[in-house]
Amino acid sequence: MALDHPELLEILACPNCRGTVEFVEADDVIVCRGECGYRYPVREGIPVMLIDEAEKP
Ligand SMILES: [Zn+2]
Repeated sequence: MALDHPELLEILACPNCRGTVEFVEADDVIVCRGECGYRYPVREGIPVMLIDEAEKP
């Protein structure tokens, strides 16, 4: 599924480390490219930027 609002990525930051994030469409996740590498789920096109919901590496 594509993101409903891809422009959101430009203002989103990882809530854990404040790193930049990238949408990986193949996995339907937002991946932190900062130091933590957390993976945030995308549900129905909406990024869920919550540390509690993130998959930790
Ligand atoms: Zn991070």
